[in-house]
Amino acid sequence: MRRITGTHVYSYVKCQHLASLDLYLSRKDRRPSTEWEEFAAKRGRDFEDDYVAELSVVQPEYPERDFVAGAAATLELLKAGTELMHQAVLSSEDRLGMPDLLRKLDGASELGDHHYEVLDVKTSGKSRGDQILQVVFYTQLLAELQGRMPEHGALILKDGREERFLIADYVAACDEVVTELRRLRDDPDSSRPFLQMGCSGCYHDERCLPEMKARGDLSLVQGMSHGARSILEGIGCRTVKDLAEFYPENARARGNLDATLMRRLRRAAAAHLAGAPVVEARPRAENLNRSAIIHMVTDAFADRVLGFGMLHPATEDGKFTFVLPKSVAEEWPAFRELMAGFPPRSVLLHFGAGLRKWHEEHAFSREADPKVEARFVDLQKRLKAAAIYPAPVILLPDFVEHGLDRDPLRGGHAGAAAMWTLEEDGDARLEAKLRTDLLDMAALKAQILDTSAEGEVIPEPAPRKKKATKQTDASTTDAKSADGEGSTLT
Ligand code: SF4
Repeated sequence: MRRITGTHVYSYVKCQHLASLDLYLSRKDRRPSTEWEEFAAKRGRDFEDDYVAELSVVQPEYPERDFVAGAAATLELLKAGTELMHQAVLSSEDRLGMPDLLRKLDGASELGDHHYEVLDVKTSGKSRGDQILQVVFYTQLLAELQGRMPEHGALILKDGREERFLIADYVAACDEVVTELRRLRDDPDSSRPFLQMGCSGCYHDERCLPEMKARGDLSLVQGMSHGARSILEGIGCRTVKDLAEFYPENARARGNLDATLMRRLRRAAAAHLAGAPVVEARPRAENLNRSAIIHMVTDAFADRVLGFGMLHPATEDGKFTFVLPKSVAEEWPAFRELMAGFPPRSVLLHFGAGLRKWHEEHAFSREADPKVEARFVDLQKRLKAAAIYPAPVILLPDFVEHGLDRDPLRGGHAGAAAMWTLEEDGDARLEAKLRTDLLDMAALKAQILDTSAEGEVIPEPAPRKKKATKQTDASTTDAKSADGEGSTLT
């Protein structure tokens, strides 16, 4: 019987099927990590090692993978009153945990006049539910060992901050996860894949994706949820093909799913079978060719922008410019340099929340022009609303693959950008990535946003007439108009 570990708890929160596969497959059944995935994992390990190196810790010694010996060595050290222990081995009949740190606290337990609490070191800037549940899992094992439940657990975050939380607040949730993990371990066939955001970076993707495609799994359809899949399957609509031809007569026949949702899912199934997006009929739209597209490539681990790029006008033959700040301090001047000369009232198209968030954070501390933010228009939201895609779309690579039928990674994976900075041709690779992404965004804009449902190109708006009357806040007006409020209509 494979023991349930903290990693299984962590995986379960991401994807039930991931935890299930991890519980019955061996590591050699996973696809090999890519070079940049290895790089990211090493950074995480180095961060923990560097953090622990600053502390005075003791680690149990035992033969490799002999966890019985490891648990015995841990117990000895805990009874001896070790102040801070690194990678203790905590085990029970069917669970095993190796928390990053155990910290000694006053207060009697079966170990003596003291007891311990769990701390885990994480590379994220904010705590997440999966990380908290992992600490609670370790804490429950520790409580069995020391005969006392510590009141708190803690996460050490990337900036060295310690975030403490009450264990009692999460015990019920952790118990539920462990019960589910036991069920999955005993009955692995009760779980199956569901296409979701995490699949693209998952080491089981080469197993799950072909399986879902072969079965015509309903999760391949844009807008599908776990609940809707299970209802549809329950009423006999089991594959994407079934769904594309599914015209239930009444609410009962469609499992009481909302009629609008049902129509949308059926259209998404048809788009999947056709392999092309279906542009939605929209009451009004506008051509944004005189805007620019602005984009950034980041190193999330280091909280750094590695490059900003701009395409102006926002078409595939627009002029591409870019800047590559070499430090956090250079980011703002680099952004200003990129924006210099760009018409002050034009719309700035960007993809997702990242750029706006970065600008907001800097606007507090810099001499930022608040009108700039009013000019930001999120292409991600616009593209999502403008068409039904052949598969779920969340990140830019999804839109590129399913909206344009292009290889979204031909300019490299955004996650690899931090690794490129250590390479001789790093700047050239960042430039290529920025350029490719911007051209893809311009193509998406042209093919999805600038095209009506009938396939006609939406005309450019007429030039604005100069007003002789009192001046208004034109930049704000432009961005509003770009958001569809009082703009050129078709
Ligand atoms: S590929 Fe997707 S469905 Fe499969 S285990 Fe990974 S996250 Fe889960």
